[in-house]
Amino acid sequence: MILDDMKYIAKDLASVPLELADRFARVPGIRAMVRHERCNGCTACVRKGFCRFGAIEMNDKKANVDVERCRGCGRCTHLCKRDAFTLEVRPPRVVTDTLRRIDDRITGLMK
Ligand code: SF4
Ligand code: SF4
Repeated sequence: MILDDMKYIAKDLASVPLELADRFARVPGIRAMVRHERCNGCTACVRKGFCRFGAIEMNDKKANVDVERCRGCGRCTHLCKRDAFTLEVRPPRVVTDTLRRIDDRITGLMK
């Protein structure tokens, strides 16, 4: 049964235009950031293309991640010899908004 579902999903995914898949494929709520105290400015991440989405750039001799481009794939975290990249987990906005609404509701009920 699960295998049938997987086949069905895989078939649908194959019909998603590549441009659309590329635009929206990201790990929700996860993005990379640079621990600047570890980054020595060697520029290897940019020169060697650690990021396949062009999200890493150098500013003031330190690497930085463009959060709009970062897909949260984690590739950069394995490649920097200084272990400067780390992944930051942030719940997607829809989750934080829902939690806030629930909290407001409970607070209202307790008054
Ligand atoms: S993040 Fe790593 S690879 Fe990139 S410049 Fe800094 S030390 Fe070099
Ligand atoms: S986590 Fe992936 S998408 Fe984000 S900067 Fe690193 S390599 Fe690029």
